[in-house]
Amino acid sequence: MTTTTVTTTVTATAPAGPVAPAVPLAAEQQRTAELEELIRRQPGRFRVLTGDRPTGRLHLGHYFGTLLNRVRLQELGVETFVVIADYQVITDRDVADRLGEHVENLLLDYLAVGIDPARSTVFTHSAIPALNQLLLPFLSLVSVAELGRNPTVKDEIAHSRQSSVSGLMYTYPVHQAADILFCKANLVPVGQDQLPHVEVTRTIARRFNDRYGTTTPVFPEPDALLSAAPSLLGTDGGKMSKSRANSVALSATADETARLIRGARTDVERHITYDPVGRPEVASLVLLAALCREADPHAIAAEIGDGGAAALKRVVTEAVNERLAPVRARRAAFAQDKGELRRILREGNERAGAVAEVTLQEVRAVMGAVYV
Ligand code: ATP
Ligand code: MG
Repeated sequence: MTTTTVTTTVTATAPAGPVAPAVPLAAEQQRTAELEELIRRQPGRFRVLTGDRPTGRLHLGHYFGTLLNRVRLQELGVETFVVIADYQVITDRDVADRLGEHVENLLLDYLAVGIDPARSTVFTHSAIPALNQLLLPFLSLVSVAELGRNPTVKDEIAHSRQSSVSGLMYTYPVHQAADILFCKANLVPVGQDQLPHVEVTRTIARRFNDRYGTTTPVFPEPDALLSAAPSLLGTDGGKMSKSRANSVALSATADETARLIRGARTDVERHITYDPVGRPEVASLVLLAALCREADPHAIAAEIGDGGAAALKRVVTEAVNERLAPVRARRAAFAQDKGELRRILREGNERAGAVAEVTLQEVRAVMGAVYV
């Protein structure tokens, strides 16, 4: 059997327009502050798309990185779509293990944190053919060299379980552009690792509009919306990720949570401070306690002072368990009715499918691809 490996040595001419630049985090945070103001004044101007890969249970990084923002936007009346990105599971592994179970768990996590299926459309992208068809014209708008430069893709390749890198790994940011643009979303509440992908989507939207442009642009150029925790670290000091065995799941029991946090990496200095640059692991734990208690991280660090890593972990464990107790109770209640979960997904898929059909027809019309 042969395996296709895409390399970045293939040269291709990039379509017109600047290559997606690496936007500094500070600039994105500034943009987030401006967006928050606009959302507060006119929530009806925005449409949200976000989502997650069904590769495991959602964790604290998701909760503070994006889930709380999704729920807040939903409550403000912003129309929201949430994609369960099932095709993207096979970007970094050969088979999508226990996919049905992961999809169900993702849905339970969503419901537990407050995503309301009556107001937010939850769907799986494999169930929406018209969304996936957008991938074809979109792929023509980016060069192979651009795909190879994406820093998040490079990081995921480094952590991949595969011996060679598939074409799907290189092209999934373009697939994500289809996820975002099928419903013409202009706001994407995400963690820091997603910033390069949102930039790819912006580039594709701009290039599509330029290439096939009518007087009104077909696609918006969406903005990323960051939270106060754009990249929460896991127990090993790397980005908390559901497939890297370093996360604290929202659905973990109080005891599991205590055990996981006890095993978290810290450093040798006894006095606890909040210094994200100099002491990233300690700072991430301090931040976690602060986020759970809605307190200032410096105040949390001062409270622990010379208590050292053991006291820090005790404070974090208590704060996390207290914060998640109602989420865990709601999750258990929703888990009682599997038929209801299937109904939610069926309805979400129907709603998303109808939206995708309209967008695809518009795309084909501006491309001149309507013949009958
Ligand atoms: P996987 O290991 O399968 O890639 P993941 O934990 O990275 O899983 P994703 O499904 O890739 O989760 O990401 C879903 C969303 O959650 C994205 O918007 C991503 O930016 C955000 N996110 C993921 N991990 C974190 C984190 N540690 N801190 C903040 N946001 C995060
Ligand atoms: Mg990820």
